Amino acid sequence: MDMLNEFRDMVQRFLQAEVEPNIEQWEADKLMPKSFWPVMGGAGLLLVDFEAEHGGAEADFDVSLMVQEEMCRMGYHALASAYNIHANIVAPYILNIGTDAQKQHWLPGMASGEIVTALGMTEPSAGSDLAALRTRAVRDGDDYIINGSKVFITNGIHADMVVVAAKTDPEKGAKGVSLFLVDASLPGFEKGKKIEKMGQHSGDTAELFFSDVRVPADALLGKEGHGFAYMMSELPRERLGVAVQAIGHVQGALDMTVEYVKERQAFGQSVAKFQNTRFKLADVKTELELCRALMEKCLAKFKRDEMTVEDAAMLKYAATDMQVRVISECLQLFGGYGYTDEYPISRFYRDARVQTIYAGSTEIMKEIVARSILGR
Ligand SMILES: Cc1cc2nc3c(=O)[nH]c(=O)nc-3n(C[C@H](O)[C@H](O)[C@H](O)COP(=O)(O)OP(=O)(O)OC[C@H]3O[C@@H](n4cnc5c(N)ncnc54)[C@H](O)[C@@H]3O)c2cc1C
Repeated sequence: MDMLNEFRDMVQRFLQAEVEPNIEQWEADKLMPKSFWPVMGGAGLLLVDFEAEHGGAEADFDVSLMVQEEMCRMGYHALASAYNIHANIVAPYILNIGTDAQKQHWLPGMASGEIVTALGMTEPSAGSDLAALRTRAVRDGDDYIINGSKVFITNGIHADMVVVAAKTDPEKGAKGVSLFLVDASLPGFEKGKKIEKMGQHSGDTAELFFSDVRVPADALLGKEGHGFAYMMSELPRERLGVAVQAIGHVQGALDMTVEYVKERQAFGQSVAKFQNTRFKLADVKTELELCRALMEKCLAKFKRDEMTVEDAAMLKYAATDMQVRVISECLQLFGGYGYTDEYPISRFYRDARVQTIYAGSTEIMKEIVARSILGR
């Protein structure tokens, strides 16, 4: 067995033992417990592709993506989204842009799961149009004082640290945005209510409020005024992770649908015998493999540092659009049972929907691709 498959086997066993017995409860509670983060850390799943000095296992980036893929394949989409933000987004921000002191301060705790992290870009009046964000960070002696709010922040309730995008120079638009590593225990940092959602119920999604939060100047991540450029350079990696989630999720939905249609009888034969069922499943499999091929091409480019912003946009758009469409077709093949909570396909359907919205909506992905063809 190669290294990736050895890890895959381990991850599957871990998820089966630690998540499967709890997922229904977490979904009903509408929150995965914070105590599960150190369980993932203890199993070596967090920052798996980081160096040992940062608490990582020095595995390939593929292994980290595979963890997300398996989580989604097994139906734990909210967990994969949480993992994506913490291990595949916030951690690389710190690794790629942070100082040695910031790396030492945050990464080992993130790898062990003692420290949970989030990324705060979106605001009530700035989502797709990120440059319109209003959160302010004003320099005051050796500190910055942050005021503003964020919405829809994954891991927001459990977060110990949030990467916050704030305007340090509002006159400069996108060039006036900076990033801060904000300790969630600081005075003035408040977590709002957990946001109720149509799917990914066990996912932790919150509003965050900052009133006169005083952070030391060394909480600045990278250079002042470079925040927007950093976000744009890290977003393709996030989109690759979201596409991998789509692929794992569709594989899981396809597998359970195949099993169901073989068992279910109608008009004296199994539902699998109807030509409609056969063609629908052939479509799902074909679309899945097309997206997998594009993902593998993008991943190979990513590893050579050649994946472009438009490559990631095409992949995110194609994979998540496919996910939402084909999981709906899978659910249809379950008939009325598909609409009930008796079968996890209904959870797959609910959980998939947001994938075309977060990490850059389908419309924004198409804009990026169109711009690469036509210019502005
Ligand atoms: C469950 C969940 C988790 C999330 N996690 C995070 C997180 O961890 N951190 C974070 O910062 N954010 C997070 N988000 C926010 C998410 O990234 C935004 O919701 C998303 O970017 C869209 O922004 P918006 O909601 O403001 O929609 P809007 O920008 O208001 O968009 C509304 C509609 O207009 C369309 N639109 C906007 N601009 C254009 C355009 N130029 N051309 C064509 N159509 C356009 C959009 O595609 C959409 O259909 C999360 C959201 C959800 C629902």
